[in-house]
Amino acid sequence: MCIGTTYHWFKSGAFNWSTIILAVVLMTIIELSITAGYHRLFAHRTYNAAWPVRLFFLIFGAAGLQGAAIQWALDHRDHHNYVDDNDRDPYSINKGFFWAHMGWLYFKQNEQLKEMEKAGDLTDDPLVVAQYHCWVPLGFFVGYILPGIIALSWGDFFGGIFIAGFLRSLVNHHATFLINSLTHCVGKQTYSDSHSARDNWFTAFLTFGEGYHNYHHEFPSDYRNGVRAWDWDPSKWVIRALSYVGLTTGLKKINEEIILRKRIQMKEKLMRKKLNKVNFDFSKYATSLDELKAKFETAFRSLSNLRQEYKDLNKKSYKPGFVGLEVKVLKDKIAEARKEFKLAAREWNGMRREILAFAKA
Ligand SMILES: [Zn+2]
Ligand SMILES: [Zn+2]
Repeated sequence: MCIGTTYHWFKSGAFNWSTIILAVVLMTIIELSITAGYHRLFAHRTYNAAWPVRLFFLIFGAAGLQGAAIQWALDHRDHHNYVDDNDRDPYSINKGFFWAHMGWLYFKQNEQLKEMEKAGDLTDDPLVVAQYHCWVPLGFFVGYILPGIIALSWGDFFGGIFIAGFLRSLVNHHATFLINSLTHCVGKQTYSDSHSARDNWFTAFLTFGEGYHNYHHEFPSDYRNGVRAWDWDPSKWVIRALSYVGLTTGLKKINEEIILRKRIQMKEKLMRKKLNKVNFDFSKYATSLDELKAKFETAFRSLSNLRQEYKDLNKKSYKPGFVGLEVKVLKDKIAEARKEFKLAAREWNGMRREILAFAKA
């Protein structure tokens, strides 16, 4: 229906750039409300948001027509807790691409009362509870009627409803659904291969950063999904930008050494697989590589210990002058330990590359 109506809209001469811009703006706002709002705020609690931000995400998240924030968050928490389990992961990829993409929605049981009982932290927020009771009319109004009313101001009411409403909705839905389907079968397992989630730049581009799904499944409490500065993750940029004006607080981040250690563990696993594949005798390099790995692990431990000391120090109540000095000394030690850690990681990685190049793996 959407495609046919769009074709007719183009052919009949009703095409209007203002309607296209409206559709793109609405698509962006709704997608961000799902990614930064439904997902990273309500489902994972990766940061706190002031009520105007929560209200905004709840209104435009409803327009995404993917359910109330409570339902969405609970399904998603099950997905993380029981990933790839056919009985308990609501969109398990092991039940097929179509099931993970959208099939699960059609067979979903209506368990509203049970959901409210399980909701816990979510029901503490009156805005979230209010949205639960009115998300259907709210979603239809904001997602379909409102664009029609706005587009009426340039005489394109039906364009507003069909292009900025239905067609936009089709794109929004499938972009989000790709996270449950495509990013659970295509892409890199950068941090872990203990689950099916993968890092996929294409879906990251379509979904404002959600495609870095291997990272996200490993570290769901991090407000970032694209963890490197250059990773395409507009959702993290929006959350961080709002923190500069005090609208978001408590942004959770995983320490860099924990992330890098996971990366290195996966690189090592992959290297061994590649060397096995080309039947390369690895034994004469194993000792040197193990020594570098041990150096890396020692650097990891001393950095982690120093960070813990710093945390503990902040909890204690020292006299201000003394705390100031001790904090400075600890900060210098942490900076030094970070350098050591990064150097150890580079050395290990350099040797891994050399071995792979030599083995032509
Ligand atoms: Zn997933
Ligand atoms: Zn998640």
